[in-house]
Amino acid sequence: MDKSNRLKNELFDEEKQRQQSLITRFEKIEVNLEKPFPDGEDYVLMMNANISTPHECANHIHQILKQRSALALVNGNEYWDMHRPLVQSCNLTLLHFKHDDCMPVNYAFWRSCSMLLASVIPKAFRDEYKVHIISKPVADLTGGSFICDVEVENLTDWKPTSQEIQSITSLLWDETVKAHRYERIQVSAEVASKLFADNFHRLSELEKLTEQDANRQFTIYRCGQYIELSDGPMIADTSQIGFIYLSAIHPLKKKDGSRFYRFQGIAMPKQLNINPFAFSLIRDRSKRLKSNIIPKDSNIKNKSSSSSINENSSGNHNNKLEKRINDIEKEKIMDELFYDPDEDDSNQQWMDRKKFLYESRIKSSSSSDTNVNKNVDDDEQRKRKLQSETKLKKPRTNDATLNCPCCLSLLCLDCQRHEIYKTQYRAMFVQNCRIDYGKKLFIKNKDEIRKRFQKRKKRQQQSEQQESENEHSFSTLTTNDQYYPVHCNICNTQVAVYDLDEVYHFFSVIASH
Ligand SMILES: [Zn+2]
Repeated sequence: MDKSNRLKNELFDEEKQRQQSLITRFEKIEVNLEKPFPDGEDYVLMMNANISTPHECANHIHQILKQRSALALVNGNEYWDMHRPLVQSCNLTLLHFKHDDCMPVNYAFWRSCSMLLASVIPKAFRDEYKVHIISKPVADLTGGSFICDVEVENLTDWKPTSQEIQSITSLLWDETVKAHRYERIQVSAEVASKLFADNFHRLSELEKLTEQDANRQFTIYRCGQYIELSDGPMIADTSQIGFIYLSAIHPLKKKDGSRFYRFQGIAMPKQLNINPFAFSLIRDRSKRLKSNIIPKDSNIKNKSSSSSINENSSGNHNNKLEKRINDIEKEKIMDELFYDPDEDDSNQQWMDRKKFLYESRIKSSSSSDTNVNKNVDDDEQRKRKLQSETKLKKPRTNDATLNCPCCLSLLCLDCQRHEIYKTQYRAMFVQNCRIDYGKKLFIKNKDEIRKRFQKRKKRQQQSEQQESENEHSFSTLTTNDQYYPVHCNICNTQVAVYDLDEVYHFFSVIASH
C-alpha cells in the first residue's frame, strides 16, 4: 500500500472511531424482522440503536440469512446497507438476489462490483504509472457490464493484451475470497476533502456540492483498503460475488484530447447459478464498448460544449445530433433486449406487401376470365364457382398460410380449409410448387373404398379372384378422380395433388392460422 493510501485508511479509521465514541449510552430498539423465510413468521429482536446492523440481526436468526442477505429495507421505504447501524425501532426486510424485490439488490451488486474493480486497478500497475480513478461506482445495468474509467500517468498508447486483462481478473478473484466488507460512514466536507486530497476529480465534485450546501454530509465507502465517495447502497461483502471477470479495456479520448481507459467487467452473485454457456454469452457481450456513460468530469465539459453548439449552430446540426442520439438510444435498447423489437413489425410489412401483390394477381386473372370467349366448358365454370365461393365466404381473409413440412418454404397464402378433413386445404394460387405431370394418381370414391375393404377380408381365401376384380375397379374410374402429385419446389417433398379443375389440394403441410 502506498503512503497516501495508508494515510487515507488511518483517517477513515480515526473518523469511524470518533463517531463510535460519541455513542455514550446504549439505547434499546425493537426491530421487527419481516418473514426472513417464506411461509415463516416475523421475528422481533431487541437491538442497540446506532450500533446494531441488519447484518447482526440476520446473524441472530440463521447462518444462511447472514450469508445471503445483500441489502436491507427499513420501514418499507429506505434501502439500507447490511453493515450500517440502525438508528431507531423499525420494520426490517432482508433482501437477497432471489427476492421478489431483487432489482435494488442488483443495482447494489453492480455498484459494488464497480467499486471492487476500481480498488484493484491501481494494484495492477507499477509505481511509475500513477492511476487516477475518474468514475465513481456506478450501477448502470445497460450494456451488460459495469465500468471503471481511469487515467494513467506516463502511459501513452497502451493496447491492453489478454494476459493483462487476465491478470487483473485474478486480482479481482483474490479480493472476493478475502470477503471485504463494504464499510460505510458519513463525514463532513472537511474530512471528505482530506480523504480525497490526492484526487482532483473528487475534490472538484466536493467543492461543487459544498457550495450548494455547506453543512452537507458525504457518504464514504471502504472496501478492503480502497476508499470511495458514493451514495450507495452496496452489498454486504465481496464474498457474495460468485464470478467476476474483467472483460475488456477500451482506450478512449476525452473532448480535450487526453486519454483515459474504460475498464469493463462482468460478475454473477454467488447465490445465483448460471449455466456456463449462458455465462459465456453475457461475458462476450460485456466486452463491447459501453458508450452510454460519460465520465463525470467530462460530462460537465460536454454539457457546456453542447450548449455552445446549440447557440452557434443551425437547426440542421441539432437535428443531426438528435438523430445520432436517437440511434445510440435505439442501439442501447436493442443491446438490453438481446433482440430487435421492430422485427415483428417489419416482417408483417413484408408479408402485407406479398399479400397485396398476390391479391392484385387474383384480380387481374378474374378480369381476364371475363374476356374469355363464351364457349366455356364445365371445368372453367367450376373453377370460377370455387373462386367466387372463396371470395364470398372469406372476403379478404384467409383460412391459413401453408408451408412445406420439410423446408418450411411458403406454399400458399390464400386457401380454403376442408369442412370435414381439417388438415386438408384447397387453393388456386400457390408458390414454390411443382406439378409432376409424368405421374397420375387415382382416388376411389367412398363406395369403392368400402367395397375394397370388404374384399380385403376375403383376400386370403380368394387371392386370384381378388386381383381380377381390382383391375376391374381401376377401369371404372372417371377422369374426375384423376390427380397429379405436387411437390415442393425447394426440397421436393410431396405436399399436394392437382386436379383437372386446376385446383390444388394440400394435405401434408404446416398451416398457420
Ligand atoms: Zn420443401
